[in-house]
Order: sequence, then structure tokens, then C-alpha cells
Amino acid sequence: MIDKFEACEVCGFQWDGISPEEIAPRMIMSMNASSELIARHQQASLIRNHPDQWSALEYGCHMRDVLYNIRDKMVLITVEDNPASLMLYGTPRVEMGLYTHDRPQVLALEMRLAGELFARTFAALPKSAYERVFLYRYPRESLRNLKWVAAQALHECEHHEGDIRNLLET
Ligand SMILES: [Zn+2]
Repeated sequence: MIDKFEACEVCGFQWDGISPEEIAPRMIMSMNASSELIARHQQASLIRNHPDQWSALEYGCHMRDVLYNIRDKMVLITVEDNPASLMLYGTPRVEMGLYTHDRPQVLALEMRLAGELFARTFAALPKSAYERVFLYRYPRESLRNLKWVAAQALHECEHHEGDIRNLLET
């Protein structure tokens, strides 16, 4: 069962209020904006303002990895019935130091590519797959359709664009 008016408590994003046609252009715009911020503030993007809050670089790496992860997830959902979970383990990636060797200038390029690749794949998926469902664990365990999963990818971009903007431009 998909809730009607579920919204992110932080940024107000409403997954079910997004039409599939909006996803690709909004995602490209958002990833390009975050990429530009990191490219413009390369030194600042490396710094954690607070020990418990990720740096802009860490947010950017997370966004890039989310898009690659969900892009593959959408293919699984389209092809397989009840596909095995493909968890991102976002916080462990940061805590294990997997982003130690990421550099702002390269990341800025990778973020643009991730947005473009996701948008292109989503646009090419058959519309008949939009209603196929998958057990998704975030923000709570629930059966979601592919359209929702793509909207969640857009949510990650726009939500963390806000985080990056707050870190680098305030
Ligand atoms: Zn949000």
C-alpha cells in the first residue's frame, strides 16, 4: 500500500506528487547545480563543519553512488519478480572510508555523469514497468513501485543539493 501524502520531514519532497516526466529534467538540473557548487568550492567541500555531519564531498559521493545503485535497481525491478535487495549501505560507505580517495574536481564530473546516465536509463525503460513493485527499505520498509523508486532518486538529489548549498554557500 502506497501512502498518498507521504512527505520528507526535512525538505518536504512528496514522492507520489512527482510525475515520471519531471524526473529526468529535475535530476539533471539538481545534479548539475550540486556539481557546480563542489567545483566552485573545492577546498571547503572537503571539510566537515560538524563532526557528525558529512562534508559536501561526502554528500556528493553519496548522491553519485545512490544514482548508480538505483539505476541498477530499476533494471532489476523491470526484469525480475521480487528481486533480491540491492542495499546501498550509504553510511557504512562513509564510515569505512570508501570516499577517502575522491577528489572534488573529479567528483563534480562524476555527479554530472551519474545524473545524465540515470535520466537516460529511466527515459528508456518501458512505461509498462512503472507499476512493478519492490520491497524498499527507506525511509521505512514498504512495497514501492518503480515510479516511486525513481522519484526517490530525484529526492536524494534535491534533498542533498540543499545540504551542499547550506554547507558551501551560507
Ligand atoms: Zn528530503
